[in-house]
Amino acid sequence: MFIGHFALGLAAKRVAPRTSLGTLFAAPTLADLLWPVFLLTGWERVSIVPGPNPFLTLSFDSFPISHSLLTLVGWGILFALPYRMRTGYARGAVVVALLVVSHWVLDFATHVPDMPLYPGSPRVGLGLWHSVAGTVIVEGLMLAAGTWIYLRATRARDAAGRYGLGRCSRCSWSPTSDRSSLVRRRRCARSRSAGSCSGGCSSCWRRGRIGTANQSPDYSNPSSTSSTRSISSTVL
Ligand SMILES: [Zn+2]
Repeated sequence: MFIGHFALGLAAKRVAPRTSLGTLFAAPTLADLLWPVFLLTGWERVSIVPGPNPFLTLSFDSFPISHSLLTLVGWGILFALPYRMRTGYARGAVVVALLVVSHWVLDFATHVPDMPLYPGSPRVGLGLWHSVAGTVIVEGLMLAAGTWIYLRATRARDAAGRYGLGRCSRCSWSPTSDRSSLVRRRRCARSRSAGSCSGGCSSCWRRGRIGTANQSPDYSNPSSTSSTRSISSTVL
């Protein structure tokens, strides 16, 4: 499966609103992120089989480490544990672990029988890729549904959120923030008040509130402080 993995990440925002979209994308695609690494090391193999169906030109000869059900359960735990330790967000950790394992389920539906249950097991797959139209329709509908769920679970706060689903990489404030995740927004507002946010939100840049990474706003300046207050109220 291709974009269907991202559809699941988008939809997961509804059940794990405090988990960043980047993490929600990395978890369901982790198998495909690991796969090239194992190809380079020679632990997994693929070959090219030219043919009329573009979805079947890669023959996945062996990929039990990145793509078997058993190892994906392990990768899910390995991914979720540090996430839980870093964020303290138990629900998010469970969701990202399930997203990692979901890769196998979705690939099982699309792949021809080449998906291992565990290294060395018989290989299975329902073969949706045999139908190009079917694949495009199913994955397109999945992405539309995932995007719809994501947009209903979040609220765009400016043009970056409305059109680009953008997010501030530095202070973790998202212009497309969950309606109920006031905690994160408050935390971001606090970090701005404390001068620890070095900027990145497009709205902050546009309003000229936030300096560059090497140039924090001068909070001892009364006019700067009032600017910060207005940001806080805007964010909250
Ligand atoms: Zn895959």
